[in-house]
Amino acid sequence: MKRIKHIIFWLIVIGIILLLFSSHVIAEDVFQKQRHELVSTIKADVMRTSDFLGQGPFEERVLDAIRNVPRHEFVPDDQRSYAYENRPLPIGYGQTISQPYIVAIMTDLLKPKKNDRILEVGTGSGYQAAILAELAGSVYTIEIIEQLSEKASGQLKRAGYTNVHTRTGDGYYGWDAEAPFDAIIVTALASHIPPPLLKQLKPGGRMLIPVGSPFMTQYLVLVTKDADNKITTREIVPVSFVPLTGNH
Ligand code: SAM
Repeated sequence: MKRIKHIIFWLIVIGIILLLFSSHVIAEDVFQKQRHELVSTIKADVMRTSDFLGQGPFEERVLDAIRNVPRHEFVPDDQRSYAYENRPLPIGYGQTISQPYIVAIMTDLLKPKKNDRILEVGTGSGYQAAILAELAGSVYTIEIIEQLSEKASGQLKRAGYTNVHTRTGDGYYGWDAEAPFDAIIVTALASHIPPPLLKQLKPGGRMLIPVGSPFMTQYLVLVTKDADNKITTREIVPVSFVPLTGNH
């Protein structure tokens, strides 16, 4: 009798484990399907705004990165079911994870190459850093809110992104010890292009940065530095970002 009870106990335990495992597999399948649908939505948005963007369809490798990175793992638990809606979501501390369409535009315009070293200012959830890590050699990302920086760092490690380096600090000043960078992406609204970031950009490099003021039109600006260190800027599309904070 004792032996039968023992067997029944273990059958129940195995049953529960199988149930949990299969519901996890089903959820991952659903998320993967939603990621593919999200890429279709982004493609449609890009077609609609191609006049603004002044460019053709996105590079397929950028879209592949969006298909690969599990956005649901970079948002708080209570936001998981909205992870593949094409909109920003709250990540705590008054901050947001950017809209996937904006992440896609910024990533495509940055043109990350396999061996590039990229600086990101505004780690937030770590999602944009993960997208860049799929496409570039290494990503250096700075976040001013310590709790967000630590959370993103843990998530990026769990997701296996060994080529992402995180730091807490004021990204206005860039990351001098690791400069220069092939590309720089700023994911918070600046009133002007920070001179330290311009300095840390390699000749031939590209920077994407939202510029403006919180209560007026903000534009995503593409900054390019040519081989002779000449700077050119181009306004790409109106955007809405949380402000770059700090005492600079
Ligand atoms: N890239 C993020 C992602 O994928 O989730 C979204 C970034 S969120 C729109 C902007 C982030 O910039 C916030 O987490 C905010 O705390 C951070 N931030 C604001 N000012 C900063 C500064 N001076 N240096 C570094 N990070 C800053």
